[in-house]
Amino acid sequence: MLCIKGGKLVTPAGINERDLWIDGEKIVSGEGRGGRIEVYDASGCLVFPGFIDAHTHLEMDNGVTVTADDFPSGSAAALAGGTTCILDFATQDRGGALRDALDRWFRLAEGRSYCDFAFHIAVTDWNPSTKGELADIVRRGVTSFKVYMAYDNLRLTDEQMLELLKATRELGCITGVHCELGDEVNRRVREELSAGHMDVKYHPLSRPNEVEGRAVRRLMELARESRSPVWVVHLSTREGLAEIRAAREKGVAVLVETCPQYLTLTEEVYIKPDFEAAKYVCSPPIRSREDKSELWKAIKGGEVDIISTDHCSYNFAGQKELGRTDFSKIPNGLPGVEHRPALIWTYGVCRGKITPVRMAALLSENPARAFGIYPRKGSLEPGSDADIVIWDPQFRGTLTAVKQLQKVDYSPWEGFALEGRARAVFLRGELCAENGRIIKGPCGRYVPRRATWRKH
Ligand SMILES: [Zn+2]
Repeated sequence: MLCIKGGKLVTPAGINERDLWIDGEKIVSGEGRGGRIEVYDASGCLVFPGFIDAHTHLEMDNGVTVTADDFPSGSAAALAGGTTCILDFATQDRGGALRDALDRWFRLAEGRSYCDFAFHIAVTDWNPSTKGELADIVRRGVTSFKVYMAYDNLRLTDEQMLELLKATRELGCITGVHCELGDEVNRRVREELSAGHMDVKYHPLSRPNEVEGRAVRRLMELARESRSPVWVVHLSTREGLAEIRAAREKGVAVLVETCPQYLTLTEEVYIKPDFEAAKYVCSPPIRSREDKSELWKAIKGGEVDIISTDHCSYNFAGQKELGRTDFSKIPNGLPGVEHRPALIWTYGVCRGKITPVRMAALLSENPARAFGIYPRKGSLEPGSDADIVIWDPQFRGTLTAVKQLQKVDYSPWEGFALEGRARAVFLRGELCAENGRIIKGPCGRYVPRRATWRKH
């Protein structure tokens, strides 16, 4: 038995100071069967349910280069920062089966992950045999899918998307969508390049707000027509938000995700000199101050459900540099899986934008519910996995890539002040990380999920 004493538990009902009892891998209601009792002193700290990152890309090959973080480094970084479970995207090869993608991701993660893990499947090739595989995939505990509206090597047509939404709805699954209109992006990129605009600053200009807004509008129409729940991944704009509001009023079931980069950075990053701006190339791009503050307002108002990272790391040296003379060749993606809790704590909770209770909902309970692992994950109630973060609000430090466990040569938040961090992280009852360092593992296990989106 383990007893965490003196901490303030962050629960949906509020913050209350009480002991938290753990027996083996589970949280229990009290001392129970007795025996030897170990005590962990959490005085002065908050006690959160382990954070869940529902959007990571580890060991992903984009066709040109492979992400800098593999499962060991990405999951270790996650755990050290307080994230005890990640949901990574197993991506189908065009012409390949979903089961092959899932098998490959199992091989990547099993025995190598420091935190618990589950998978979504990104469907890049929709055909009758893909459709025929869905039920099997759900039986293997994968109950959410993703499609891209942009990227020629990944995207589906609207018609394929509609069919997929109808099929996944029948199975009680939710589908996430990358909302940027691919044709519009391609045209704008072509126009910039043919005008001789090769610099990084043209990346955001080739993917303006309305490209996301119109894509969200289209998705809302498809969701309405298919009566399928949808998940807007990495929402970045006011325009997208307005479309979601309108659709919700019409009864569309839509789950909204945003990411720390859209909440803490602004488009000025793209005018940094010496190709530094390439470090911030992601899609959708970092937006304006106004978008950032609208997203925070939407979070306060309960319109955003989850904050994930879209962790997709590429080194500056050798990878981001692939686009030195052509912005369209810069691999898209940012690292962040290690720092999401500390960033949202510092720039959300400490700045008075959200409460710790809301932070726990956005980073843990809501993703657990949305993706079929609640209350096993996302809760401090008896019966839940003992995934626990002892959060030290007294910590003061500076985020720097030099100290990170992420296996990438920079951080988009280099030099940012941090006003709290995970002092201790328990994974299913075992103390696995302390003060940003791993002390045990890899102990991560697969978390099969239930299909929880009943038809409506
Ligand atoms: Zn992504």
